[in-house]
Amino acid sequence: MAFLRAIGAEARYLTQRAYSSAAPTTKLFIDGKFVESKTKEWIDVHDPATNKVVTRVPKATQDEMQTALESNKKAFRSWSNQSILTRQAVMFKLQALIKENMGELAKNITKEQGKTLADAEGDVLRGLQVVEHCCSIPSLQMGETVANVARDMDTYSLVMPLGVTAGIAPFNFPAMIPLWMFPVAITTGNTMLLKPSERVPGATMLLMELLNEAGCPPGVVNVIHGQHDAVNFICDAPAIKAVSFVGSDQAGKYIYERAGKNGKRVQSNMGAKNHGVILSDANKENTLNQLAGAAFGAAGQRCMALSTAVFVGDAQGWIPDLVERAQKLKVNAGHVPGTDVGPVISAASRQRINDLIESGVKEGAKLILDGRKISVPGFEDGYFVGPTILSDVTPSMKCYTEEIFGPVLADNLDDAIDIVNANPYGNGTAVFTTNGAAARKFVNEIDAGQVGVNVPIPVPLPMFSFTGTRGSFRGDHHFYGKQGIKFYTQTKTVTQLWRETDVNHTQAAVAMPT
Ligand code: NAD
Repeated sequence: MAFLRAIGAEARYLTQRAYSSAAPTTKLFIDGKFVESKTKEWIDVHDPATNKVVTRVPKATQDEMQTALESNKKAFRSWSNQSILTRQAVMFKLQALIKENMGELAKNITKEQGKTLADAEGDVLRGLQVVEHCCSIPSLQMGETVANVARDMDTYSLVMPLGVTAGIAPFNFPAMIPLWMFPVAITTGNTMLLKPSERVPGATMLLMELLNEAGCPPGVVNVIHGQHDAVNFICDAPAIKAVSFVGSDQAGKYIYERAGKNGKRVQSNMGAKNHGVILSDANKENTLNQLAGAAFGAAGQRCMALSTAVFVGDAQGWIPDLVERAQKLKVNAGHVPGTDVGPVISAASRQRINDLIESGVKEGAKLILDGRKISVPGFEDGYFVGPTILSDVTPSMKCYTEEIFGPVLADNLDDAIDIVNANPYGNGTAVFTTNGAAARKFVNEIDAGQVGVNVPIPVPLPMFSFTGTRGSFRGDHHFYGKQGIKFYTQTKTVTQLWRETDVNHTQAAVAMPT
């Protein structure tokens, strides 16, 4: 199949040459074709484990972005009129193709993003589940009917697509997050202009090959690349009716405001600072394993990473055991078997993390596990940061307000709940306990969109939605699930009168019917 050959060819090419100027270019995807950009501005994508340039991403020109948008507009006219079963059939085929090519997608994610192969497969799987949910689109996109609202008159509602939509994705889930966006947008009858992260474009491009193969018509999804200019193009283009964004606070607030001012619907998933609250009656072994996995898996670069552990009462004595668990995690390149923690995305990101650790030390936190000076044999140029734990952290410290792992101590459950609720973010949280009443109190009183009970990363399956709150989300409807369908659709309410023989009125009725 073309898709597999393309990957193989690229892999051979990369072993031969690793210079920026020689690296293969990432194409634009316009009207069902992979197109070389005519831009003069390119961004190098580095393999985080080796620092070698693996591809060059174009900053699409205004003309190219406009061409892509025109293609989306044209495709909308026919795609939105296709039978819903045709759109469903594309999802069935896409689902099978993603499953078949999961390994290849994961390899590409590991190469561009750095996460371990097993974690990269999880990234694809979570996105695949959204595609699977979209296979139920005929029953998800049903309207409502009331017969006989008046004599010979019925009212029904139709759930209609919006038109051209757009998606702007982050670096940390190169497959999952684009798959949160375009499958829901297009099965509901929209078309989508997608801008993947310029740091990890490969998975999106592979998904486009699969989408072509699944029989999706040209122009239903187009892909542009770039940074600010591409984002501004999306926010400003009058033809784009809705924008889905996932990424940092800075970009999310900007996009929410700029696209919102231009009358677009926006859903904006932003930063997170997730807390795990550990009560002393929790199952110790299980809790510590879960914590270490959720804190350091994907090198902590998950929006659902538990970056703060709040140890309540006697559970504070477990911190040395947590350090021991974290020390055992193997740091290495993502494709090396047995790796637990891969590199972070860039040299700049490693620097930022190291600076935050240093700021914690300066502000009085204790560095009980220091992963800063790690060197990985064979990958000396990679962007590695080993598991790091700061203790005696207080909520005023910079290392607490930004994203790195650190235990915080609380005297009782009420204090722990106050700490979590005082944080500006409301993405996810978890409690570890064997006490049902304490767990129930936590679920009721905690102010976060996703809550785990003895589960560290409670990302919901797509029959639910990804429900971050407070500083982690702006908008009305969340990603995927029923809310995702609502986000990409509008309701048309039809009232119709069909009468065999009409009564002849001699005068117009001007008052509201009563
Ligand atoms: P990012 O904001 O840097 O990039 C996301 C997208 O926005 C990219 O496509 C990028 O090109 C664009 N962008 C970047 N800076 C911009 C700016 N100043 N103006 C306009 N557009 C801009 O995010 P990232 O570093 O790729 O992703 C990591 C962040 O995403 C973390 O903060 C993480 O918590 C968050 N995240 C949140 C969720 C969630 O569901 N809440 C999920 C995954 C990631």
